[in-house]
Amino acid sequence: MPYKDIIPTNPNIDDLMVQIKKYYREQDTEMVQLAYDFAEKAHRGQMRKSGEPYIIHPVATAMILAHMRIDPNIIVAALLHDVPEDTSVTLEEVEKNFGPDIAGMIKGITKLGKLKYRGVERYIENLRKMFVAMAEDIRVMIIKFADRVHNLSTLDSLPPKKRFRIALESLEIYAPIANRLGIGEFKSLLEDLSFPHVLPKEYLKTDAIRQTLVSQREVYLQNVMEVVKTELQNSGIKVINVHGREKTLYSLYRKIMSRGGWDNTEQIYDVVAIRIIVDNLADCYAALGIIHKLWRPLKGRIKDYISQPKPNGYQSLHTTVFCIDGQIVEFQIRDRSMHDEAEYGIAAHWHYDEKGSRLPSKDIFWAKELADIQKNILEKLSDIDELKVDFFKNRIFVFTPKGDVIDLPEDATPIDFAYSIHTDIGNQCNGAKINDQLVSLDTPLKSGDVIEVFTDKNRKGPSVDWLKHVKTHQAKSKIKEKLKTEKSKWLKIILPKK
Ligand code: MN
Repeated sequence: MPYKDIIPTNPNIDDLMVQIKKYYREQDTEMVQLAYDFAEKAHRGQMRKSGEPYIIHPVATAMILAHMRIDPNIIVAALLHDVPEDTSVTLEEVEKNFGPDIAGMIKGITKLGKLKYRGVERYIENLRKMFVAMAEDIRVMIIKFADRVHNLSTLDSLPPKKRFRIALESLEIYAPIANRLGIGEFKSLLEDLSFPHVLPKEYLKTDAIRQTLVSQREVYLQNVMEVVKTELQNSGIKVINVHGREKTLYSLYRKIMSRGGWDNTEQIYDVVAIRIIVDNLADCYAALGIIHKLWRPLKGRIKDYISQPKPNGYQSLHTTVFCIDGQIVEFQIRDRSMHDEAEYGIAAHWHYDEKGSRLPSKDIFWAKELADIQKNILEKLSDIDELKVDFFKNRIFVFTPKGDVIDLPEDATPIDFAYSIHTDIGNQCNGAKINDQLVSLDTPLKSGDVIEVFTDKNRKGPSVDWLKHVKTHQAKSKIKEKLKTEKSKWLKIILPKK
């Protein structure tokens, strides 16, 4: 859905509460109100660059999340997300009022900090911070997406250079991350809000083409939707919803570019696809069968993303058929849970329902995914000449038994891990377990591993061999340092005193 259809220009607390009261329990609406009062008081007197009271920003951020029916704790954290960084109220005070879980999320957002571009190297460093924060608690990233979406919607008040940079970053980094996490809703919002600032001419051209293509087929597709709905119902399939899904502008632009440019746009027939939501998985296949009985499918255009989901978890059946009057129409069929997954992806785990159930905040199943995303982004950035090769060393994210994230280079070993926790732990390291399995100290670590190291207080220090197995500069220098002092002690014993 376009941003302006979700969020009013300058939303206030009443707008937010209307949205909240639609879905959330009474105690949750009270907590949201308390968080608003707290944030409003803290930000009072502050203005945004656009000249509006600052509180509009956290309210809009919270509203974007409420629109997605995200867990109320995340909405509360969104309302408070700029308080410790921008006001005199501290994180400790936030924690005292709202508890450690919410304070933890806000701490994560504050650690990410404000976007201040100071050269590419610092930028890569910030990106790394972002990935560590994500690995620690993915909810931080969900809030960051909403924060960014609102900032993008108010970019006009910034100078052109800054506007371009923020929009480009959203398009090249934030949107692909949202996509990999399967949050289609954020991916679309981030792309379509950034697009006009990055490629203004192309944006206008694409918009004009979409309007033409959509209006040409509006009546026709309406008719197809009526027909298909009736046919499905007559066959005993419970249809939850049939609607037209318009391609977002940026994905339409990419399609135009991939098909040879502006002269070939008449043949793009999936600007609007027909999306059918049914009650259950079996009905997805039954509906596909009925559509194929009515209209002949195009060869090679049937895609079963149910039995073979996309890497980000997306599930649906896609088919393209010669429809009424031989016109080409694309259908997408899915059930309700697949639909939720497609719109909200990883965020669906914090999708609000009556039970209020949710995953623990520290879960590590996406750590491998994260390392992948990071690799893609760094590859993309590798075109920039001024970057030092060192920054491209792929990073992995591993965990202490308590769930703290340690960020290490690829092929790092338990020794690197031990030194990154504490020099003494490194020096006295005597053994290690990876995911509860005893391993040798030179075993390469993988993203998502949980590492436990054992120390021996009587251990004299590191072995020279360790230098062959460590990947971090930190471990290397600490080992050398320790070996040097050991050696000089030993020398003192055997060498006669002067
Ligand atoms: Mn913010």
